[in-house]
Amino acid sequence: MASSTTALAASDLIAKLGTREVSSVEVTRDFLSAIARLDSRIGAFLSVDAEHALRQAEEIDRRRVTNQPLGLLAGVPVAIKDVICASGQRTTCGSRMLRDFVAPYDAHVIEKLKSADAILIGRTNMDEFAMGSSGENSAFGPTRNPWDTERIPGGSSSGSAAAVAARMVPLALGSDTGGSIRQPAGLCGIVGMKPTYGRVSRYGLVAYASSLDQIGPLATDVTSVALLLEAVAGHDPRDSTSVNRSVPSYLTSIEQPLSGLRIGVPVEHFAEGLDAEVERSVRQALDLYKSLGATLKEIHLSHTKYAIATYYLIATSEASSNLSRYDGVHFGHRAAEFGSLVEMYEASRAEGFGDEVKRRIMLGIFALSAGYADQYYTKALKVRRLIRRDFDEAFVDVDIIAGPVTPTAAYRIAEKTNNPLSMYLGDIYTISANLAGLPGISIPCGFTSAGLPIGLQLQGPPFEEEQLLRAARMYERETDWHRRQPNSSNTSPWTPRNPKRKPSPQKNQKGLQDERIS
Ligand code: GLN
Repeated sequence: MASSTTALAASDLIAKLGTREVSSVEVTRDFLSAIARLDSRIGAFLSVDAEHALRQAEEIDRRRVTNQPLGLLAGVPVAIKDVICASGQRTTCGSRMLRDFVAPYDAHVIEKLKSADAILIGRTNMDEFAMGSSGENSAFGPTRNPWDTERIPGGSSSGSAAAVAARMVPLALGSDTGGSIRQPAGLCGIVGMKPTYGRVSRYGLVAYASSLDQIGPLATDVTSVALLLEAVAGHDPRDSTSVNRSVPSYLTSIEQPLSGLRIGVPVEHFAEGLDAEVERSVRQALDLYKSLGATLKEIHLSHTKYAIATYYLIATSEASSNLSRYDGVHFGHRAAEFGSLVEMYEASRAEGFGDEVKRRIMLGIFALSAGYADQYYTKALKVRRLIRRDFDEAFVDVDIIAGPVTPTAAYRIAEKTNNPLSMYLGDIYTISANLAGLPGISIPCGFTSAGLPIGLQLQGPPFEEEQLLRAARMYERETDWHRRQPNSSNTSPWTPRNPKRKPSPQKNQKGLQDERIS
């Protein structure tokens, strides 16, 4: 197989584009041909705009050779979860309801990516309206895990995670309401970050649960995640919950050593239900931190046992309200046949929404209904405060909190589709960060004996993304899990096409050491 730039991390691609060792057109072509070769087996993309991507790449190459100023992500392809509006593009949210919806405006993050000169290569598959943990709830078919196509990639940012893992794209945006970036990143062996609530604007993100939703980056390594976060973060007055706080240069500080790092290890995240192989890898990661000078402290997040119930009441309540706009009039599919106006609403919603979305709407309407709201919704809000307080108390003594991302590695397709509760239980370690509004990152920390990736989760206090990224990089620097690629990606290590050209700086050679699991 010809050597391909697809084996490189985004951060390395940017360096090679900068030294003109490769052009954006070459890079974009490589990724487009990876998509053409692999995606029929994976199902990560809902649409790919090859022509537009190549035109953009040509334009950036032209600007580069004429030494015009270029943005942070100049010439690098990025895939977008199909829940983020981009003007003139179909934005389906993985739902029949929005099958034909073309967004009339750009989300804030899309504006940011355009001004960073990123190449918007395509839109990724997802659980319908971001409701799901497996990638099986898309109206357009499931996404498969590139490490084992009989297994789920995680969700709901299933396509974004699988596309990055299979090296069909170097960077992707996802959204995380209860774990939807960190969980599929963990199950696909890549890096994914949920920023602090308010760090990235939600303007143009189709709402699932507005008080929990946050957009964030996915990539093969921590540095690339830092880059993409830096490009999309920042204040936006059009999202009233976006916080007016300057965005640090995550990239500048990422290699700075963290001395005296204090890591909290929550007892509740190593309790019953945690798979032994996952536990072993996560504990080994903690040992590595210790050997690097960090101190480990056992902590308690005592309200963890209520997190799933709390989340599934608050998220569904907000969803039932947010999704009421899809009535076949304001937004969404309209049934072809109906009698009265009410029948039109009913038929349109019955045809447009899938089973899981309907389940959530019913649960949310129930939790909010007169006579039950105090017992369910309002009570859940109170427990949410207690969950946040657990974290506030923990962060008095520790800088970050570490543990597993998920209780098990990727399970088989259809294994949990008939048992929604058992699927919800898989969100146990990730949902608290959303309820508390905190940042969290998932990084690869090992493989099961069956060759499935295992993720390590680091969580931090609000707006401490910089510290989280440095802590994640501290681990990544000592390990090579992030360099492994699934067989399905089938790319050979990158070698320079023009051997006469001067080699790029040391750091950029990383891709040459890529190894593959056989
Ligand atoms: N699995 C969770 C849910 O289905 C989280 C989804 C998400 O983060 N978007 O609600």
